[in-house]
Amino acid sequence: MSHPKPPPAPIPPDFPRGVRLLHDPVRNKGMAFSAAEREALGLRGLLPPRVLTEDLQVRRAMENLARKPDDLEKYIFLNGLQDRNETLFYRVLTSHLPALMPIVYTPTVGQVCQAYGHIFRRPRGMFVSADDRGSVADVLANWPHRDVRIIVVTDGERILGLGDLGAHGMGIPVGKLALYTACAGIPPTQCLPITLDVGTENPALLDDPLYVGLARRRLRGAPYDDLVDELMQAATARWPRVVVQLEDFGNRNAFDLLERYRDRYCVFNDDIQGTGSVVLAGLLAAERLTGVPLPRQRFLFLGAGEAGIGIAHMIGAALVERGVPAADADGQCWFFDSRGLVVRVRDDLTAHKRRYAQDHPPVRDFLAAVQALRPTAIIGVSGAARAFGQAVVEAMAAAHDRPLVLALSNPTSRSECTAAEAYGWSGGRAVFASGSPFDPVVTADGRRLEPGQGNNAYIFPGVGLGVIASRARHVTDEMFLVAAKILAGEVTDADLAAGRLYPPLDRIRDVSARIAVGVAEVAFTRGLAAAPRPADVPAAIRAAMFEPIYPRYA
Ligand code: NAD
Repeated sequence: MSHPKPPPAPIPPDFPRGVRLLHDPVRNKGMAFSAAEREALGLRGLLPPRVLTEDLQVRRAMENLARKPDDLEKYIFLNGLQDRNETLFYRVLTSHLPALMPIVYTPTVGQVCQAYGHIFRRPRGMFVSADDRGSVADVLANWPHRDVRIIVVTDGERILGLGDLGAHGMGIPVGKLALYTACAGIPPTQCLPITLDVGTENPALLDDPLYVGLARRRLRGAPYDDLVDELMQAATARWPRVVVQLEDFGNRNAFDLLERYRDRYCVFNDDIQGTGSVVLAGLLAAERLTGVPLPRQRFLFLGAGEAGIGIAHMIGAALVERGVPAADADGQCWFFDSRGLVVRVRDDLTAHKRRYAQDHPPVRDFLAAVQALRPTAIIGVSGAARAFGQAVVEAMAAAHDRPLVLALSNPTSRSECTAAEAYGWSGGRAVFASGSPFDPVVTADGRRLEPGQGNNAYIFPGVGLGVIASRARHVTDEMFLVAAKILAGEVTDADLAAGRLYPPLDRIRDVSARIAVGVAEVAFTRGLAAAPRPADVPAAIRAAMFEPIYPRYA
């Protein structure tokens, strides 16, 4: 990566000097401080004499990383780098994104959350606990950065497909915000990860002396709602332009909070809306591969939670846009949850599931549902590892020339099937995408297939950037629909020929910038933008993106 040399930045009077500067991760440049900067900033003698280029620093970081024996150790190393020198961390991350995204995010982040209290070095982000009720504004006042534009907040109740990890869920907002910066250039000081520690129902954590959160059962009901309300109010009072991304909340709270806040604050839920958008993008790209248009498809979901319902909503929006009546659009989505096919005669369905309940006799076995319904696509969002067995994939391949098999559960250990299984059991005909990455597969007849990763990181950073750039007052479903269409349009014929439903990750910054333009245009045309529309929206968005380049101080 080569960047133009920036002009010297003026040194403000309160700028840290000497050792304080080396311990300031936002301003530290390590051995890249020039001789003139070392002289001007009181650094002489505090660093080895040689001045290193940024590229050599990246090389050293990558060498260190390669020496780490496993992914968790790689994460710990990168986390340490982020604590020492944020610019270098982002330079390393952006220049090696396809290799490092699985370390800073899924699947490794799942291990990080599981081990969080045991690998803890220093805090990152803010912890707001049940004991802070009544004084959340005082807590937020302690955050040092004044211009926070995006908060990712979790209460740790449903971390990936791993369940309730309580305060150890902090790995998720930290990882997602690193992706906001790496994929969409949101400046790191504008990002704030928050964990709402309301306790946990996880007995192993409650018994663990190194658990970092409140060792008590979860706060529920009105006190919980009051705490989240207080957080939303306090955050928008201190940072009026902030976008709040709700992340990895338990199923019920996720839907409730989104409904409660979507018209009051600038807020979205990535597990529902971001997932819906990224999976719809994959389905739109797959249309070009299978030749079966969306309105002629039938989708069978395994799992009827945040992800499944969010995807169905987005499919419905796309179908309606293509002229399918709303009532019929819902009918193309079938759900199978832990109690079987979601059908009208069931009396145990929540409102979200009832919307998709079909007029069909109950079916308790997923294979039987596949055989009865002959879906064009099965979409695994259950967290139930290996639920797409050989018989299921073979039934899909018997019914369709190019069956869609999306095994989206995270982390890898929860995936409904592997890429090799989907290709192997379908004679190489399955169109496959997963939630966590899988290596390319060589089929029995010698073809190399690259499974797509339906990673939400294709969508949320670009959406966030577009919302921030336009200062949109709300985040709307239309923005996610537009984002899906833009993402699908970025998939080339070469990507499709290799089996990929998404563009390669090394193009993600360009993709995010284009999504941001589309999202900002929605805000401008719908009257949701507080910012004036710039003459050249793409150029304005590009100019606002943070590049990991050191400022020159002397
Ligand atoms: P959720 O808890 O809201 O929903 C899970 C659903 O799965 C529930 O309806 C539950 O009844 C059902 N379920 C559980 N076990 C089942 C079984 N054995 N058979 C059938 N149904 C079963 O969770 P969610 O937010 O919807 O996430 C589900 C999974 O999807 C997670 O593993 C998550 O990591 C993954 N996910 C992937 C992506 C992506 O790939 N981009 C995005 C979001 C979520």
